[in-house]
Amino acid sequence: MVKKISYCPICGKKIIGNLNQCPSCSSKLIVCRNCAKLILSSANKCQFCSKNPRTGKSVELSPNNDFNEASIEKLKYDLVLGKISVNEYDQLIKNI
Ligand SMILES: [Zn+2]
Ligand SMILES: [Zn+2]
Repeated sequence: MVKKISYCPICGKKIIGNLNQCPSCSSKLIVCRNCAKLILSSANKCQFCSKNPRTGKSVELSPNNDFNEASIEKLKYDLVLGKISVNEYDQLIKNI
C-alpha cells in the first residue's frame, strides 16, 4: 500500500500516515473534504478552496440567508405601508 505524503500547513514538515496531528509541531489537522488538502482542524474555511472543510460546501451560505431575511423584512414593511397587496406579498415571498 502506497502511503500518501502530505505536508503540515503550519510548519511545512512531511507527515506520513496519521494526518490528524502533525508529528513535528503537534498541530491538529484535517483533510478538506472538497480539495483533499491538509489544513488546521480549527479552520472553518479551507485556505485553499475556501469551502467548509468538513462539509465540502461553500461557507458563503450564511450571508445569503441574512439577505433573504432582510428581503422578507422589507416585504413586510412594504405590506404594512400599503405599497404591495397581500396577494403580491405572498407571490414575492415565494420568489425569495
Ligand atoms: Zn507541523
Ligand atoms: Zn479545500
